[in-house]
Amino acid sequence: MSTTPVIAIHGGAGTIAAVASGAPAARPYHDALHAIVAAAQAALLGGASALDATCLAVGMLEDCPLFNAGHGAVFTHDETHELDAAVMNGADLRAGAVAGVSHIRRPVQAARAVMEDGTHVLLGGAGAEAFARAAGLEMVDASYFSTEARRQQLRHALAADRVALDHDSAPLAEGSKFGTVGAVALDQFGHLAAATSTGGMTNKRAGRIGDTPLIGAGTYADDRAAAVSCTGSGEMFMRCVAAYDVCARMRYAGQTLQQAVDAVVLEALPAIDGRGGLIAVDKHGNLSLSFNTSGMYRAHARGAETPHTAIHR
Ligand code: ASP
Repeated sequence: MSTTPVIAIHGGAGTIAAVASGAPAARPYHDALHAIVAAAQAALLGGASALDATCLAVGMLEDCPLFNAGHGAVFTHDETHELDAAVMNGADLRAGAVAGVSHIRRPVQAARAVMEDGTHVLLGGAGAEAFARAAGLEMVDASYFSTEARRQQLRHALAADRVALDHDSAPLAEGSKFGTVGAVALDQFGHLAAATSTGGMTNKRAGRIGDTPLIGAGTYADDRAAAVSCTGSGEMFMRCVAAYDVCARMRYAGQTLQQAVDAVVLEALPAIDGRGGLIAVDKHGNLSLSFNTSGMYRAHARGAETPHTAIHR
């Protein structure tokens, strides 16, 4: 008997307080999340693996300028783009990631290629780009990632002299928002996978690498526990090894998915001023989309049910 597939995606967490979920400004976000989760849901129902479905969803999120990954990625302090991405396969703990890349159109595909190659787990900068080029992935001029909205965010951050989370100055968010994108899935074969991609944080120092490409911090998948994709203040997620901590709590402490997620998102992270959230699915199809900010762009779909999108609580 096959498992009922489950897919969940996120487009970042943050304050997102300015506009109610039903307001017109929220519409494009709901529409984009719905279209992307529906595409991944259809793929899963058609027999795609969790790995393929998460990479598909994250690739589409990277192409969407509303979110801080791929086209629409935030600027570093030096007005450049440095993108991070990771993918992990829960069945065999294979993982791949790239960090600080500026010319790979869809960094999640490069992460996938690193994983498939199998020699290394994490490639950075020019070496990662050379690897992606050799793998035949689409390369772009760095200006492809730039949007006027992100340039304005950088100006605001420079004026305020702070390092900002993406949704800090996005249309929906006056306060702060992290715009990383991610996906987790359970496929009909009972396997889990997670993928995450980001432009990082507005006004970050050139060379800064966040939690997203660090296996265990921003991304983790283990069929024995859960698939997890995080968004938030990356430094704190790294210090908590957040994604792995969810899985470890389930495996070693016998916690349920929700107990483990609550312990990380509502206790461990806030204890060190970590803000953000994560999405997670376990092998039974339990889902948790949790955040300690006022909102997180998110969507999920179970089996053939109509997808559900949400921004606030
Ligand atoms: N976690 C990401 C980073 O620190 C930022 C985000 O989630 O928006 O790079």
